[in-house]
Amino acid sequence: MEEKKMNTDKFISHLNQKWGNKPCPMCGTNNWNVSDTVYELREFHGGNLVLGNGPIIPIIPVTCTNCGNSIFVNALMSGAIEKPKNAENEQSK
Ligand SMILES: [Zn+2]
Repeated sequence: MEEKKMNTDKFISHLNQKWGNKPCPMCGTNNWNVSDTVYELREFHGGNLVLGNGPIIPIIPVTCTNCGNSIFVNALMSGAIEKPKNAENEQSK
C-alpha cells in the first residue's frame, strides 16, 4: 500500500480545471513548478511534537519559479490522493 503516492495526472487536471492559466499573484509571471510529492501541515503545538493527535492536512505545493510564492493545494480535495483508511476518525465529524 502506497497511500502517500499521489496521482499526478489527476492533480494536473484539477489545476487546469480550477486554476486555469492564472499568473502568480505576487510577481505576475506564469511559471509554476508543481511538486510531485505530498506534504503535511499539522497544528502548531508550541514546538512540541504531538503524536496521534489533531488533524493533518495533506497539501501539494505549487511554487512560482520566479519569486518563490508557494500555493498549497489540498491533496485530498484535488483528488491527488485517496483518503487513508486509518485517518477516517480524524476527518469525519
Ligand atoms: Zn511569482
